[in-house]
Amino acid sequence: MYSNRINDPAFAKYRANSDKYALIFSFIIAAAAILGFYLYGEFSMEMDNPEAMYIGLGIGGMFIMIALLTNRSKKGAKTWDGKVIDKQVEKKTKRRKASDPDYHMREYLLYKVIINSDYGQTHEITAEDDDTVYNYYEIGDRVRYHGSIRTYEKYDKSKDSIVFCNACASLNKIEDDKCHRCMCPLLK
Ligand SMILES: [Zn+2]
Repeated sequence: MYSNRINDPAFAKYRANSDKYALIFSFIIAAAAILGFYLYGEFSMEMDNPEAMYIGLGIGGMFIMIALLTNRSKKGAKTWDGKVIDKQVEKKTKRRKASDPDYHMREYLLYKVIINSDYGQTHEITAEDDDTVYNYYEIGDRVRYHGSIRTYEKYDKSKDSIVFCNACASLNKIEDDKCHRCMCPLLK
């Protein structure tokens, strides 16, 4: 069954807090960008102030804007029901480090759970080299996506020994009442 504990005020509070921290973090980055470009303008031969500082202001403002837009998009996200239609494991390769000039490749497994919403849209839950979520779902499982907290809930948890926190995604034991990490109620 889907838990009605999703209406617990702890989730709204968790969301408000994470929005707040994202915004504070963006202000810190913005301040660093403004200061960095200001110093560059003062000490380098390439550029002078206030031009350098204006660039810093522009970049800093962009970070704040992105945080505000991300927070707003979470508010508008819809909750929907769906069903697991497929599970796939893909062998993939990627550069060990994005900055590696010698293209040292690394192999990894991409675990995918594919979900079809009742409105006909396809969504994927993916994880690299980690099969925990992959094993948690079976093809045919009914799932609900909680838009405001951007996490999935399985309908039938009767055979499970674990449950994922719907706020912070931490792994918890099914017997537990609250998430060990963020203290939000576990949906079960
Ligand atoms: Zn949690």
